[in-house]
Amino acid sequence: MTKPLPLVQSRMIGALTVHAIQAGGQRLDGGAMFGVVPKPLWERRIPADERNRIQLGMRCLLIEHPSGLVLVDTGAGNKEDKKFKDIYGIENEGADGRTSLEDGLTQIGARTEDVAIVINTHLHFDHAGGDTWVDDAGNIKPAFPNARYFVKRGEYDYATHTNERTAASYFERNFMPVVAAGKFEFVVREREIVKGIRVVPTPGHTPFHQSILIDSAGERGFFLGDLCPTSAHLPLPWIMGYDVEPLVTLETKRRILRQAEDEDWLLIFEHDATVPWGKVQHDGKGYHLREAE
Ligand SMILES: [Zn+2]
Repeated sequence: MTKPLPLVQSRMIGALTVHAIQAGGQRLDGGAMFGVVPKPLWERRIPADERNRIQLGMRCLLIEHPSGLVLVDTGAGNKEDKKFKDIYGIENEGADGRTSLEDGLTQIGARTEDVAIVINTHLHFDHAGGDTWVDDAGNIKPAFPNARYFVKRGEYDYATHTNERTAASYFERNFMPVVAAGKFEFVVREREIVKGIRVVPTPGHTPFHQSILIDSAGERGFFLGDLCPTSAHLPLPWIMGYDVEPLVTLETKRRILRQAEDEDWLLIFEHDATVPWGKVQHDGKGYHLREAE
């Protein structure tokens, strides 16, 4: 198994410098990743391995904001055992015992203590696993000790009231230590977290999933989260089997991708192993990435 590289890719969105940090690799069942799309179609975009899994990334976004570093999603963390990591094909070990996310921060010249704000799109283990970390003594603590964390109130309720279908994705060790430390703030609907960084409800993958809109100096970037996990998922009906409300995902995608094309947004793909971002175009049949400018 190979970790997707490069570890860090940086660019500007308006006046803000942003860094996409690849918090590790992940391999998931290709059929589950593409829902009702038949394999002969999806494997032309992302080939499957001998266990029918496809290579994914776990990209987080670090934004250098005048009010402090803002981190969007945190990868899978360092608390899971070998068996779990094998099932989900997670390869994210960091040089210092934490994860690739912390390695990426180091490469940028930032420390975990420097992160002022953490925003979670939702609380699934591959998005909020790095909200906390376990030290050598077995203590689980917030991974960003000086940060305020943000997630939707409804997502927190959903994560703490699981059923047989949803339980496999939510582990309290990923977020309860942050709640216990009084560091989680729960968001209702849309909200500007700091100037130019706004959380936007994008339901479907989970009922209270949110995405992040960055608006600076006339440019807009949009961190999709699991609304559209890779650039291969741009066609409207290419929706993950993991989504709990796939028809809601469809309508959210329709609305967001239309606005992204109309307003020339830079879309940021969390799970794409190779493509960090791009702008979309509808060619009459479907959405696809425009050539990079
Ligand atoms: Zn995900």
